[in-house]
Amino acid sequence: MRIIDHVISGQASDGAGDGGRTSDVFDPNNGGVQAQLRLGTQADLDAAMAAALAAQPAWAATNPQRRARVMFAFKTLVEQNMDELAHLLSSEHGKVIADSKGDIQRGLEVIEFACGIPHLLKGEYTQGAGPGIDVYSMRQPLGVVAGITPFNFPAMIPMWMFGVAIACGNAFILKPSERDPSVPVRLAELMREAGLPDGVLQVVHGDKEMVDAILDHPEIRAVSFVGSSDIAHYVYRRGVEAGKRVQAMGGAKNHGIVMPDADLDQVVNDLAGAAFGSAGERCMALPVVVPVGEATAIALREKLIPAIDALRVGVSTDADAHYGPVVTAAHKAKIESYIQMGVDEGAELVVDGRGFTLQGHEQGFFVGPTLFDRVTPQMRSYQEEIFGPVLQMVRADSFEDALRLPSDHQYGNGVAIFTRNGHAAREFAARVNVGMVGINVPIPVPVAYHTFGGWKRSAFGDTNQHGMEGVKFFTKVKTVTQRWPDGGATGDSAFVIPTMG
Ligand code: NAD
Repeated sequence: MRIIDHVISGQASDGAGDGGRTSDVFDPNNGGVQAQLRLGTQADLDAAMAAALAAQPAWAATNPQRRARVMFAFKTLVEQNMDELAHLLSSEHGKVIADSKGDIQRGLEVIEFACGIPHLLKGEYTQGAGPGIDVYSMRQPLGVVAGITPFNFPAMIPMWMFGVAIACGNAFILKPSERDPSVPVRLAELMREAGLPDGVLQVVHGDKEMVDAILDHPEIRAVSFVGSSDIAHYVYRRGVEAGKRVQAMGGAKNHGIVMPDADLDQVVNDLAGAAFGSAGERCMALPVVVPVGEATAIALREKLIPAIDALRVGVSTDADAHYGPVVTAAHKAKIESYIQMGVDEGAELVVDGRGFTLQGHEQGFFVGPTLFDRVTPQMRSYQEEIFGPVLQMVRADSFEDALRLPSDHQYGNGVAIFTRNGHAAREFAARVNVGMVGINVPIPVPVAYHTFGGWKRSAFGDTNQHGMEGVKFFTKVKTVTQRWPDGGATGDSAFVIPTMG
C-alpha cells in the first residue's frame, strides 16, 4: 500500500516515526483504498516549524525578483507535468480530467500573479510630508504562515495561498485535505525543483489534531483556511484567540436568478455545467435556481429536464463524462440523505439521482443528477449546503422576491443573474447581499489579480484570497517618517504632539 508522507525540509518525511495514525485515501471511481496518509502530530509540526523558522529569514532577504523567478520556473514545471498532475488529482478527487486541469490552471493563474511580486510589494512614498520630512511605507513578510485546505480544489486553493505567501517572503506550512493529499505533495516537490530553498514550503498532513496544533503554535503568524463554515468559524475563533491573523472561507449555497427576459437555452446550458460540474462539489457551484414568474418557471423546467437526462456520469478518466464520482462514500451518503430530507419536507423530486450505479464500477461513489422543484426557504435542505449534484428550484413571484432569497440566506459566497435587462442586472449587483456576483456568468470566480471571497457565513475575517487582498494578508506594513536635519539644532523640545500644520 502506498504511504503518503509529509514534506519537511524538501524531503519526504515519515514524521515522528512512531508508526502513528493513518487515514485511508480512496479511489472514488471504484470505492477501493489506494493509499494510506500519515496523520501528523504536534511533534511533526514542530519539526516542520524548526525547518521553516530556519529558512525564512534568508528567503525574506532574497530580493523579490529572485523570489519571482522561482514562481516563473514553477509555472513552467507545472505546465510540463500537467497531465500527470491532472490524473493524480482526478484519481483521488473524482473530478474528470478536463476539470482537474481547470483546477490546476486556476491555481497557476495565481502563480502568474505572484510572478509580479516585485511590483506588488512596492511601498508608498511622500516627499515633503512636513518641513524636511519624508514618509514611506514598506510591506514586509509575516514570517512563518500556514494554510489549511479543503478537498474540492486540491491544486487551486493551495496555490492561492502558498503562491502569494511565498512570493511575499514568508515560509509556508500547508495542511492539505486528508481526502486528496497527493497533488499538494507533488506541488511542493515541483516548487523545490523550481529552486525554492528547503524549508520554505512544508506539507504536514493530518486532521483536527494537526489543525489545532497549527492554530495554537505561537510562531505561526497567520492562518489561511478554506473549508466548511462550522470549521471555518472554529478556525477563525481559535486562531484569533492565539493572536494570529486569520482568513477563513466557508461553505456556500449560490443562487441563479432567471429573469423572464433571459435566454433560456443559454441558461439551461450554464446551469447544467454550474450545478452538476465536478458533481456539484464546488463552493461556486449553482445549486439553487430561482425563476422569476410562473411562465419562466414552467418554461425553464421543461428545458431543464431533458438537459439533465442527457448528462453523462462516468469514471473520472472518461473523456465523454460530464462529471465523475463524489469524493467518499460518506459524502455520497450525506448527499442522498439531503435528497430524502427534501422529499420529507415536501419539495417535488423531479429527477432522482439516488441509487445510480455505473456498470463495472458498482462500488464507486456515484450520485446521479437530481432536480427538485417547489423548494421553499423554510426547508432545511434549502438552508444548508448539500455539495452534490442536486439542483433545487425555488420559484419567485418578482425581482424583489428573487433578490431577497440569496440576500437573506446564511451563506453569501456567489450569486448569478440571467437577464437581457441591463437596469435589472445593475440593480441586482448593487443590492444583493453576496460577495461575488455573476451577470450572465454562472460561476463568477474572479480572475487571479482580483480577489476571491464571500460574505456572511461564507467567510470569516476581513481579507480575501489572492489579488492585492492576498498580498495584504501575507504582509505587514511598516511606515517610516524620516528627517535628515542640517545640523543646526533649534534647541527646542516639542511637548505638543507633532503636526504637519
Ligand atoms: P472541511 O471543512 O471538512 O475540511 C477543510 C479542512 O479542515 C481540511 O483540511 C480538514 O482536514 C480540516 N478539518 C476537518 N474537520 C476539522 C475539525 N473538526 N477541526 C479542525 N479542522 C478540521 O471541508 P471539505 O469537505 O474538505 O471541503 C468542502 C467545503 O469547503 C464546502 O463547505 C465548500 O463550500 C467549502 N469551500 C469553500 C470555498 C470558499 O472559498 N468559500 C472554496 C472551496 C471549498
